[in-house]
Amino acid sequence: MASNPHASALVVTAGFAEIAAGSIAMGLGGYLAARTDLEHYASEREREIRETVELPDIEIEEVAKVFSRLWTERRTNGSSRHRDYRKSKKLGGLHDAV
Ligand SMILES: [Zn+2]
Repeated sequence: MASNPHASALVVTAGFAEIAAGSIAMGLGGYLAARTDLEHYASEREREIRETVELPDIEIEEVAKVFSRLWTERRTNGSSRHRDYRKSKKLGGLHDAV
């Protein structure tokens, strides 16, 4: 094995082949996942548009619910998260030293 002068070149070549194969597989997996996400988004969007025409009252309620939840989260979590951020800055000490 070690006596063969081509053995190490073969191992390096096999390593590069493995890297290339892995990269292709990973890229393909990512591409397929992204395409599935895109198709899902498109079908959901179409359904929501259809429902906006066929069931406008329900859609109005849906949108109101989403916005009211976002608004509540912003008022409750938002302020305490901001406080935590400021506290962590103080622990860092860099900006409060001045
Ligand atoms: Zn809807």
